[in-house]
Amino acid sequence: MKRLHWAAPCVFGVVLAALSVAERRRPLRRRVEARPLHRAARNATMGVTALVASAAVEWAIVRSAGAWAARNRVGLLHHVRMPARVKEVVGFLALDYSIYLWHIVNHRVPGLWRFHLVHHVDRELDVSTGVRFHFGEMALTVALRVAQILGIGVDRQTLALWQRLLTLSVVFHHSNLRLPIGLERPLSRLIVTPRLHGVHHSERKDESGSNFASLLSVWDVLHGTWRVNVPQRAITIGVPGQRDPRELTIGPLLTMPFRPQRPAWPDGDQPTPRLLPLPPTTLAE
Ligand SMILES: [Zn+2]
Repeated sequence: MKRLHWAAPCVFGVVLAALSVAERRRPLRRRVEARPLHRAARNATMGVTALVASAAVEWAIVRSAGAWAARNRVGLLHHVRMPARVKEVVGFLALDYSIYLWHIVNHRVPGLWRFHLVHHVDRELDVSTGVRFHFGEMALTVALRVAQILGIGVDRQTLALWQRLLTLSVVFHHSNLRLPIGLERPLSRLIVTPRLHGVHHSERKDESGSNFASLLSVWDVLHGTWRVNVPQRAITIGVPGQRDPRELTIGPLLTMPFRPQRPAWPDGDQPTPRLLPLPPTTLAE
């Protein structure tokens, strides 16, 4: 049992290391930070504080909510008759759909956006961005997790599988890895890929308001929030209202959600859409 307990963190560590090496060998977007080591240390520190918050919430609330829901058969799937395997697939899809909606809510609700903003102000995108979340955002995710457990009624194993795949997906799609376009085009139809998520981190408001999926990309396709024809070389990563490097160091980042907020897009929406040669559904290089 102990070996199994350590298997998931070990797989995560290996994938993180492999992606870090691969994204340096085959970079997708050019780097802009003058001091890459400072940025890596900053993102790692944010990652550790987020991990501690996430583990504390999981231990204190989510585990007991899960046990209580299972004991009392709370959640939709407990009351629907279907084969166990089908139930697992439906539970998995419902979990993934709910985090798609949660991500949209994080962009639309000001009280949540001030935490999610900290993730978006990174001026580059790579595996370190995939762990760089504000600890407050991780703690607030408890609301989603409890709603998932009590609403869906998913079993523990399916929830654990989805959480592990989601974690791997998050570091993968934040990576700066240039995949062959012939591979990424079909792959992006199934899961969120680096080019797909690069558009979501664009400083253009119309582009950051797209590609909200975290694991399966189908939710963006179904909801019309799928936007893929923007070339990565045309994208500036970040948030226009937060570009001052002095405010993007560790201290200001940790206190950012608790301070008065500046408009993230001081100039409002972009009045003119980009002129793009590819159809909206074709992934651009
Ligand atoms: Zn986002």
